[in-house]
Amino acid sequence: MLSRKITDGTEFVVFDMEWNQAFPGKKYDFEVSELTGEIIEVGAVKYIYDNGSLVRKGTFSEDVRPVKYRKLHYHVKKVTQKTNKDLEQGRPFKDVYEDFKRFAGVDAILVGWGNSDPAMLKMNLKFFGMDPKLGMEFLDLQPIFSLFSGQSGQQKSVESAVDFYNIPKNDIFHSATADAHYTGEIFEQIFSHNKPSEVISAISSSSVNPDIKSEFGFIGRDCPDAESAFAEVSSFVSKCPICGRSLTARIAPFRIRKSKYALYFCSEHGEMFSRTRLKKRKDGKAYATSVLRFATQNDYYLVASKKEEFDKFGEKGAPVEVKETEDSQTDS
Ligand SMILES: [Zn+2]
Repeated sequence: MLSRKITDGTEFVVFDMEWNQAFPGKKYDFEVSELTGEIIEVGAVKYIYDNGSLVRKGTFSEDVRPVKYRKLHYHVKKVTQKTNKDLEQGRPFKDVYEDFKRFAGVDAILVGWGNSDPAMLKMNLKFFGMDPKLGMEFLDLQPIFSLFSGQSGQQKSVESAVDFYNIPKNDIFHSATADAHYTGEIFEQIFSHNKPSEVISAISSSSVNPDIKSEFGFIGRDCPDAESAFAEVSSFVSKCPICGRSLTARIAPFRIRKSKYALYFCSEHGEMFSRTRLKKRKDGKAYATSVLRFATQNDYYLVASKKEEFDKFGEKGAPVEVKETEDSQTDS
């Protein structure tokens, strides 16, 4: 959480990328895990915030010629409706990225749908020997949309958000340029349908620095029972993983089913969300895995709604069949 100030003149660069991927089973002369996707298209729309709304200032659209995954993976082909010929007509990644940086400027906040795009951009920069620092804050618009559309905690596609606001569908989805435009229009709609001060507050508390590690994990040792497994990881969440200061609990740890949730506070780094999960080994031993991360809008919602459930139903949680995937949606 950075609590970035948003004032008249603040610039936002809404961006989206498409990437090609390796063919399963094919041999490559490099480590595929270091390049899980090679960027083939970058699309972006620049906005300036002015007096409660977003003013469109420019657009960016470039195809990139891949050098590692040159043939379109069938899945990418199907989703993006691109052809191998399209790929050949793209420009080198380095050139496109430099143009994109010039387009974005130095002070803008990057905005995307989901948080996979900045991670993929950084991976490509690193793989191709360029500086992986983006040097800009990043805002994931997806949880902001969920919050303001009354669907907190749910992961919605760009298309369902476009439908929600009745935005005309003049283009296909899953082209970087079209998706950046759609995401920009959703961003505009969020401002025009809500109090700008509330939108700004949500945005400020949700933008993150993509260049620093914002999530930390810990796996406890095997223990004879659940209680000792939870105790095993409790020291991990007692100190800030960045500065080592003691964390104070804003919402003290509480257990629902196999997970413990809490909201902590570091005087230097702000609020941090934590979730600890209990796991079982085949031999009956228990262990716990913990994550601690800068709390985002989604995390506040998650911990608040779980606390509500806990206060009402206790450790066993609501007596309905709850899908296990419910929580994992916020992990992406
Ligand atoms: Zn700290």
